[in-house]
Amino acid sequence: MALIVPKFGGTSVGSAAAMQQVARIVQDMQKNGDQVVVVTSAMGKSPDPNDQIKVTDLLINSARSAAAGGDDYVRARHALALKHHNIIRSIVTDLADRDAISREVEALLAGFEALCGSLRVLGEITPRALDALSGLGERIAARILAGVFRSMGIAAESIDATEIVVTNDNFGTAMPLMTQTRDKTRARLLPLLAKGVVPVVTGFIGATEKGVPTTLGRGGSDYSASIVAAAVDADEVHNYTDVDGVLSTDPRIAPDAHTIEVLTAQEMAELSFYGATVLHPLTIAPLVKQRIPLRVKNTFNPAHPGTIIAYDRATGSANKQGAIKAVTAIDKVSMVTVSGSGLRGVAGIAGRTFTAVARTNTSVFMISQASAEQNICFVVPQASSERVREELSREFSREIANGEVDAVHADDEAAIVTAVGIGISETPGVSGQVFTKLGERGINILAIAQGSSECGISLLVRGSASKNAVRAIHELT
Ligand code: ADP
Ligand code: ASP
Ligand code: MG
Repeated sequence: MALIVPKFGGTSVGSAAAMQQVARIVQDMQKNGDQVVVVTSAMGKSPDPNDQIKVTDLLINSARSAAAGGDDYVRARHALALKHHNIIRSIVTDLADRDAISREVEALLAGFEALCGSLRVLGEITPRALDALSGLGERIAARILAGVFRSMGIAAESIDATEIVVTNDNFGTAMPLMTQTRDKTRARLLPLLAKGVVPVVTGFIGATEKGVPTTLGRGGSDYSASIVAAAVDADEVHNYTDVDGVLSTDPRIAPDAHTIEVLTAQEMAELSFYGATVLHPLTIAPLVKQRIPLRVKNTFNPAHPGTIIAYDRATGSANKQGAIKAVTAIDKVSMVTVSGSGLRGVAGIAGRTFTAVARTNTSVFMISQASAEQNICFVVPQASSERVREELSREFSREIANGEVDAVHADDEAAIVTAVGIGISETPGVSGQVFTKLGERGINILAIAQGSSECGISLLVRGSASKNAVRAIHELT
């Protein structure tokens, strides 16, 4: 008997049929004698072309628009009510259960409308208010999914992660406080498991020690599942999504992308950090210490083994593919350059540069320093580039006035393309093959960085060349 934490993403719970499929997957685990803790995202797109609502996106867009004076939230409330009540009506069979869930969903949606109304009056939105609103989709989905489970004979109870996942108050990208989270999660979930009840836990959200709701960041339900799994000492995490595991690249860019059988934790971290949206970049972190295996699988093709994330380097490299296993891209980044003859040999320029960047709360994706120390280049999200440029211009105002530093420059039309595979640093000639592939397609490389973790090589290219560069490197996987 194993304790498994399956996490279901937005499309996996996006329609009545999808939720029933999720219930069948859980039934199969139970038939196998396994105990199950489910983590769910908010409902995403349904296969029905008339229902393409992604609940979290709609909540966030409505809240932002309300703060800017819009009233789209009124229409959004109706659309959300329709989407969720349709499911409840069609697949929650017990009438009393159906009524109870409908009332709770109505109360949550009424709260959404009221809060958006206040934002409209205030004319602004704080990260704290946005977290309270954006997590509503998971609260609704968990209630409905638990109802669907009960209708299909699975004892289940929905749980708001605000009760069990304790986080800091970094609203929008909160981090878990693992000691408190472990205690609360065990106290709440283990008695349910002992009674044979499946807890259906909301992904994405948590709460501060004082109980104020937070979110873990977009795509954060993956991270939630790992946090809960570590807290209950699970044997496995199964991350169910809408493709057959982690693929060699984004299938929307290269439809011939194939499933990678085995990835090391390091490779997975590199891939998700550099743009593969299939897993939140922090998903692996809570699992590493206990070495809890993570599988990425397809809800709609559960017989496919998907991808397994291995902690042991030898297992991770033991597949037949070449040195490059996958390629990924981050679009809309900006290259910032601090340059000038005065930089040469002056101690502390790099330190001052990155301290100034840190003051703007920006994460740096990639750094490269040209030989003669005449310039420092680094890459930041496009949305932060102006803030970073201004801060650096202030930091170096004296040097700019003396002519020791040229003006700080930000180039806004770039993308980072990253090839990932632990073999890259061990196999001679891989970088050469990458450059040749790009050269053949006339793609210019603006900067190179090898190996934050020696299992990837990152290249900066023009934004317009991003997809082409991914396809070219993908030919090497
Ligand atoms: P979920 O709602 O299940 O969490 P996401 O949309 O967050 O699903 O992530 C799955 C999607 O990630 C896939 O449908 C695919 O389009 C995209 N994707 C991007 N890169 C990759 C990759 N390397 N492997 C698999 N999927 C990828
Ligand atoms: N629903 C949240 C989002 O869309 C979390 C998730 O899906 O992982 O970002
Ligand atoms: Mg996701």
